[in-house]
Amino acid sequence: MSECLFCEIVAGRIPSKKVFEDDATFAFEDIAPRAPTHVLIVPRRHIDTIGAADDEALVGRVFLTAARIARDRGLESYRLVVNNGEGAGQTVFHLHVHLLGGRPLSWPPG
Ligand code: AMP
Ligand code: ZN
Repeated sequence: MSECLFCEIVAGRIPSKKVFEDDATFAFEDIAPRAPTHVLIVPRRHIDTIGAADDEALVGRVFLTAARIARDRGLESYRLVVNNGEGAGQTVFHLHVHLLGGRPLSWPPG
């Protein structure tokens, strides 16, 4: 059993509401949504944080999957968020992009 929650979700050992998957990425509904659309997009391969990422192509794939999901949902305006480190609100240390949309999004984020 992996100690990483999102590795377990990617492997299907912990259930999730899957939105999309391909050979490199996996996307699922956030369990505590902060917007009408709140999807998490992760690389299948474990990477702790964006600050520790070493694979440009894989990080690109994660972002392009997020944009694809937004397009598929008809979202013209949306936000992609990556929290890096506890001080920025990161609670799960498997790199993930938050796709938030479906309501007005204020700026700057808190
Ligand atoms: P962060 O705070 O940036 O690390 O984001 C972690 C996100 O994971 C939060 O928005 C949580 O609501 C979400 N989350 C935690 N556990 C689960 C789970 N089992 N399934 C789906 N989303 C989860
Ligand atoms: Zn992981």
